[in-house]
Amino acid sequence: MTTTYTPEELRERLDRLPRLRLAALPTPLDELPRLSESVGGPRIWVKREDLTGLAFGGNKVREFEYSIAQAVEAGCDVLVHAAAAQSNQSRQTAAVAARLGMKAVQVGRADAHSQAQGNLLLSHLFGAEVHLPPVSEQGAALEATMARLRAQGHRPFNTSSDGGLYRGIAYVDGFLELWAQLEERGLQPDAVYVCSGAHTHTGMVVAARALGLSLRFVGISPSPRDDGEAARSMARLAAEHCRILDLDVEVTTRDIESYSDFVGPGYGVVTDGSREALQLAARTEGVVLDPCYTGKTMAGLIAHVRAGWWTPGQTILFVHTGGTPALFAYAGELGLELDGAAG
Ligand SMILES: *Cc1c(COP(=O)(O)O)cnc(C)c1O
Repeated sequence: MTTTYTPEELRERLDRLPRLRLAALPTPLDELPRLSESVGGPRIWVKREDLTGLAFGGNKVREFEYSIAQAVEAGCDVLVHAAAAQSNQSRQTAAVAARLGMKAVQVGRADAHSQAQGNLLLSHLFGAEVHLPPVSEQGAALEATMARLRAQGHRPFNTSSDGGLYRGIAYVDGFLELWAQLEERGLQPDAVYVCSGAHTHTGMVVAARALGLSLRFVGISPSPRDDGEAARSMARLAAEHCRILDLDVEVTTRDIESYSDFVGPGYGVVTDGSREALQLAARTEGVVLDPCYTGKTMAGLIAHVRAGWWTPGQTILFVHTGGTPALFAYAGELGLELDGAAG
């Protein structure tokens, strides 16, 4: 059995949770007519989650309003994050720590993009303690960092794992904002395209189902993975969102559509499709996508349009989750004719 809720009822559930104010909201909802025309496809609208304001924006700013509120509630004083050297989340962890007067530790890794550029440069600027161990030692380095901080009397909070469920909750909220904007403009999208790490996707699906909408979400994975297993784990995440919000809503694997076909050789590796998508969005609309997430999501949308999934009479909503500072560490991989040495 599933109950249908009004936006006000969902808002009331969200209002019961602790929340920080970090993002510039609402983010814009814009149309991309020249991009639509250039791919001969449906109307494309974009929800600009890259414009959440703080420290070059992105979806983590919205997510952290709920997830790092959990750190504040628990009396934590250090925000830790471990991921790729050019991680957007590491950059936002450092920025939010600065904003909250906390210490930040980034346990990155000496990967192919660990030059002091883009996100990594910004993490340094925000005053984070940055470590770049060899890729194979990152897990151990993270554990050692957490243990050292605890031994020093700190209360560390890992922004990936601790409070992670609340990142999706933030996108239940984000979907309410989006839905109000769509209604205001009389738009009924045939599908929502979103980078399917997990939380942005699951939060929006939970909100849509709670509102009783059959809206289709097409998730594009930034990492190689088994799509069936991803759908199962995301359905479990969605169930946790429902539990936290006390919602009588069932989300099954049938509600979670996620494709890893556009990753290419690996996470963070530019593909022909993502290169084309990055250039096309920039050259038709002045919109900057990123090499790890939204470039691949847009590559997926373009490929689906070309495969006949969507036609000019239809409307697609693309969620721009941010990530643009990473571009500056990818100069040599964007297929641009740069004067002099790239990269
Ligand atoms: C982190 C990230 C994602 C995935 O985030 P989820 O929280 O898993 O939804 C997507 N896009 C960008 C640009 C990101 O930085």
